[in-house]
Amino acid sequence: MNESNEFKKRINGNIQYNVKQDKELFDLIEKADKIYNNNFLPITNFERAVFFSWGCTIGDCGFCYMSTQPKDKPPKETKRSMESIFAEFILSKNLGWDIGFFTGGIGVFNPDELNFMLKIINEITEEKIWLSVGPLSKPLLEKYKPYIKGVVGSTETINPMLHKKVCPSKPLKPYEIMFEHAKKLGLKKAMTFIVGMGESKEDLSLLIEFIRKYEIDKIHVYGLIPVNGTMFEGYKAPTKEEQAWWIANLRIIFPQLDIQCGVWDDRVDRISFLLKAGANSISKFKATKLFGTEIADEIEHQAAIAGRKFKGTLTKLPDIDWKKDIEKLSLSDESKKTIMYKLNLYLSKMKANKLKKEELIMIRTIQAENMIN
Ligand code: SF4
Repeated sequence: MNESNEFKKRINGNIQYNVKQDKELFDLIEKADKIYNNNFLPITNFERAVFFSWGCTIGDCGFCYMSTQPKDKPPKETKRSMESIFAEFILSKNLGWDIGFFTGGIGVFNPDELNFMLKIINEITEEKIWLSVGPLSKPLLEKYKPYIKGVVGSTETINPMLHKKVCPSKPLKPYEIMFEHAKKLGLKKAMTFIVGMGESKEDLSLLIEFIRKYEIDKIHVYGLIPVNGTMFEGYKAPTKEEQAWWIANLRIIFPQLDIQCGVWDDRVDRISFLLKAGANSISKFKATKLFGTEIADEIEHQAAIAGRKFKGTLTKLPDIDWKKDIEKLSLSDESKKTIMYKLNLYLSKMKANKLKKEELIMIRTIQAENMIN
């Protein structure tokens, strides 16, 4: 069987839609896959979005779990401790995870607090990071510029009517102005796009126009997560074919665009499909909570199915001196102790996951042997 037929057989899986659509999608994905391979190495990786809060002063985007938070809780009281945030960056760096972006509710930290965190984060990562904290003014972009490679606009959808419905208090215009400033300042620009909220295929031309106009370098293509308590509660998540359609079209039109695909832990089986459609990296996986589990194994396996080498790890803890990365930080001894404590909480959970998985495998082996005997 030639490579193309084998690929068709693999992605065919149990897709239940009409033959004509199948053929169109196969052709689209094959073309996108070729374009990816002509422009990038056959690798992929996990990108971690590090959140600094679970509340937001906007708080009414129709798809966002932050809109379900109790309204009597002031957003500023939903911030994480800085030590816990720094511990997560140390963990991410040593597990080889790229930082998708540093983010959280708009207005939760003030600019000086954010700037301080960015400085310490740069000491950890030893490289600039992506920042997503709402539409930033030019002076703020200039302030953060020493520590950031670019800004992410959480644009979510480009269809103006749909945008009004799902982001009533988060218009696109301020992001467009931020992208213009970022361009002038030599910062990179990224945007988000959520598949499954009610967009139509005709919106593709609007998206293309937007990417061209603002010279977008990177796009995060998520699939809707129908969170309970939001306007999408009870909705169906988009299929892998729907998410892949957007990725493949973008890959074909923008061969060098950095495309990240967002998956949830109930959708890891679609990763090889989305990578074949031309995505560069993977995000939206609960990587600290599910590290070392069978779901994490599946992500690395999916990368292999798509013919990609998986950079970093979601399954094996490295045997390293974790203190080393903490000692070098320009923080008080007390803060460093707290970071170590927070880091140990993460590591214990990850080790426990691994033990649980080994136990499960052992039980299954014994059960299988008993059946044979
Ligand atoms: S602005 Fe961002 S964090 Fe706030 S509610 Fe909207 S999507 Fe959620």
